[in-house]
Amino acid sequence: MTPDPPANGAVVTEHAWRAARFMVIVAHPDDADFGPAATASKWIDRGSVGRLVCCTSGDQGGEDAALDPLELAATREAEQRRAAAVVGYDDVRFLHQPDGALANELPLRELLVREIREFRPDAVLTHDPEVLFYRGAGVNHADHRAAGIAAVDAVYPAARNPMAFPNLARAGFAAHPVRRLYLFWPGQPTAWVEVGATVDRKIEALRCHASQFTVDAAFEQRMRDWAAEDGVAIGGPAAEAFRLIVIDDDDQAQLPE
Ligand SMILES: [Zn+2]
Repeated sequence: MTPDPPANGAVVTEHAWRAARFMVIVAHPDDADFGPAATASKWIDRGSVGRLVCCTSGDQGGEDAALDPLELAATREAEQRRAAAVVGYDDVRFLHQPDGALANELPLRELLVREIREFRPDAVLTHDPEVLFYRGAGVNHADHRAAGIAAVDAVYPAARNPMAFPNLARAGFAAHPVRRLYLFWPGQPTAWVEVGATVDRKIEALRCHASQFTVDAAFEQRMRDWAAEDGVAIGGPAAEAFRLIVIDDDDQAQLPE
C-alpha cells in the first residue's frame, strides 16, 4: 500500500487516498501553511473536512525582546485564522502552550486527545518527530519535534483507548481510532500528494503571516521550487511529501476522487 521512496530518480504513483475528516496538528502558527497546506486545500476542495490545531500561539516568534508576547500571540492567532480561512479549515484551535518550551508531556497529550475525540478525524497530519536535522537545511525546531511526538502519542494509543483519560470519556469525549498519520517535512518520505492546483492557495495562506515574513517574488518562487522538487518523485509538476503511517488498514475508506 505504501510506495517505496524513489531511488535513482525512479517515479512512484501519486498518493490518491483522501481522508474524509483530517486534523492538522502543529507547533506554531504558520507551520501548517509551510507544511501540508496545499494537500489540505486539495482535500477540502474535494469534500473533506479539515481542522487545524496549533499547540502554541507563536509568542516567541519575533526578533525584539521588548515585544509584548501576549500581543504577538494575538496577532499571530489572527494571522493564522485568516490563513486557515484561505485553506478552508472548519476551525482553528489554539492550545496556548508556551512557544519555545513545548514538551511532550501528559497535559499536552490530554489536550490533543480531547481535540481528536471531539473532531474524530480519519487522519492526523503532523510534524515528523524523528527529524532532528533537515537534509542540508539546519535544525528542526524543538517545538516541531515535541508537537509531532505528542500528536503521535495522542493518536496511538491514547485517543482510541477508552481507558486513557477517563475524565474525557466521562465528559462525553468517547474513544476514537485515527486510522492514519501523515508526517510532513519527513526525513524519509513514503507518499507524495500531487498539489499542482493548490500551490497558489498555500502561497496565499503564507501571505497572511505578515508579522513573520513578507511573501515577495523570491519567497513565492522558493515555495514553488520546493513543491516542484517534491513533484519529481511522482513525475508531476508539484507535490507535498509525507511519511505515511497506516495504523488501521482502511481500503474500505478510499474515497472517490
Ligand atoms: Zn514552527
